[in-house]
Amino acid sequence: MHYPDLGTECQIARGPRVRAVGWLAAGLDFGCGEIDGKVVEVLTHLREEGWVHIAMPGIHECELCHQAREARNILVPSRDVLYVAPAMVIHYIAEHAYLPPSEFCAAVLGCPAPTTDAYYEELRRFIDVYSVGHPVTAADFDRSTRAHREWREQIAANRRADAERKRFTW
Ligand SMILES: [Zn+2]
Repeated sequence: MHYPDLGTECQIARGPRVRAVGWLAAGLDFGCGEIDGKVVEVLTHLREEGWVHIAMPGIHECELCHQAREARNILVPSRDVLYVAPAMVIHYIAEHAYLPPSEFCAAVLGCPAPTTDAYYEELRRFIDVYSVGHPVTAADFDRSTRAHREWREQIAANRRADAERKRFTW
């Protein structure tokens, strides 16, 4: 499951415009250091709210400590490349002092917020990446991201309704 940082291949995507980040494995060196807390904040938001072209069937356990499990992935669109990270990257940063490449951190900070038009427009430039394995048309992409937006907006509306109900509870 190990893929080198900034390589063009990882478990869920490959191609010249893919940049793998955070596919760490036991026994292999990785960059360590302090990270801007804002990067982690945005990554966490992307993990919860972001769109991903493929749902991973299996749960992956942290090979370094065996204390964390995660099945999700995170896409970070940037100008020319799409960064693809396992959601475990957040655990690696928090618990194993992993410091992702600086260009990835910059892309995270520059990523438009999920469910905005700008966010889906950025992702739309990588349809060729989502097409690896099976062809994805622009119409497929638009259908998938529209469903994603409706799903997240419904969840946000439910949360607001819950909060509202709690406000009226004595
Ligand atoms: Zn761990």
